[in-house]
Amino acid sequence: MTGTTTTSGINPSPGTNTAIIADRVADLGLNDVSDDECPSPMTAFDIVVVGAGGGPDESNLSAYLLKSHTARWEDGVLALEAGSGQGTLARILKEKPDLFRDPDGESDQVKNQALTASDIYNSIQGFLITHAHMDHIMSLVISAGSLSGCRKRIYAVKQTLKDIESSVFNDRAWPNLASWREDDASYKFLYSPLTPNTTTYEPVSSEFSVATFPLNHGSNDLGPYESVAYFVRQDASGQEFLFFGDVEPDSVASLNGGKPQTLAVWQFAAPKIPHMLSTIFIECSYPSGRADSLLFGHLTPEYLVEELVALAAEVRKSKPAGHSSDRPNKHVRKRQKRLASSTGITNALAGLTVYVTHCKDAGLGDESSGRPMREVIVEQVRSLAEAKGLGVTIKAAEQGMHIQI
Ligand SMILES: [Zn+2]
Ligand SMILES: [Zn+2]
Repeated sequence: MTGTTTTSGINPSPGTNTAIIADRVADLGLNDVSDDECPSPMTAFDIVVVGAGGGPDESNLSAYLLKSHTARWEDGVLALEAGSGQGTLARILKEKPDLFRDPDGESDQVKNQALTASDIYNSIQGFLITHAHMDHIMSLVISAGSLSGCRKRIYAVKQTLKDIESSVFNDRAWPNLASWREDDASYKFLYSPLTPNTTTYEPVSSEFSVATFPLNHGSNDLGPYESVAYFVRQDASGQEFLFFGDVEPDSVASLNGGKPQTLAVWQFAAPKIPHMLSTIFIECSYPSGRADSLLFGHLTPEYLVEELVALAAEVRKSKPAGHSSDRPNKHVRKRQKRLASSTGITNALAGLTVYVTHCKDAGLGDESSGRPMREVIVEQVRSLAEAKGLGVTIKAAEQGMHIQI
């Protein structure tokens, strides 16, 4: 578990001399923000990682809790995926009791009131789900009968909601606790369909809206299977981050006769990077070298970096090299001279942080060293991305993290 981490570069408090801080950070070579770049925006999002794995460990499955940085957790939470849940959070809070404590609380009394896992889950107003696989909805199902507070919306594309309805809330696998009608107040959950394939943002809370893009996630006996990526926007500031559900590489989807879909996500993201969109969460389920026939609709480090190269090309198209905000600091410039400058994408992703998610851990770890597979995978992604000279920062999404964007 790790502590608070900030990915929007520098987050100055009011009155701070941001130019001095920026110079110091650049001199230390701590990030790829160029000397002449505008100061990074203020923090917009607080995200707590309840689970970041892709199985088989059921206590670390895809689940993130989100609020605006200026809001209080108890005033409303958006759950982004619902793999692990309340029990896992209770365990995390034993180790990190201050995870949800407001350091700027109005009074000592507020500061000293540590929120429990149950407080947080009852404060959830909506669940934003990428697809209906169990590792993304398990805690939503298990907690459905016991959550209190307002009626909670399940936001997803219609097919995902139908999958949840037919396979889970069907009065067989689980009691039917969800409905499609606003006036069915006796049902705990309200199915709230989102429109895929559109650049229109749809509200998912009083503060956040999302643009929803379909993704390939392999195929099965029923045909191609889809997940989605969400651009999550804080409406007040216009700041966004990009969150991927499980995803198959475009090149593998094409080989299998499918239509590449991730490219459209990169095309929509490119003009916003890095000033409006500085953070991407994307999966990398397996380590390097896994055969295409064993991907099951997921990424490996080689394919994740192939996708990041496609993003870099789109960024370059939308903002040709030489644009002032693309100039790296002198430390980065020196390092990158050695790298693939001829490709035209060198440093195209400077200022962007990619959190690697959904690594399949247990039973797959590097047993000789005892390292979790997540660390092995992230190191592989980092070294491949560095070899391409993309200028992107690669980090692991880890359970218990408090990420500020
Ligand atoms: Zn998954
Ligand atoms: Zn999946």
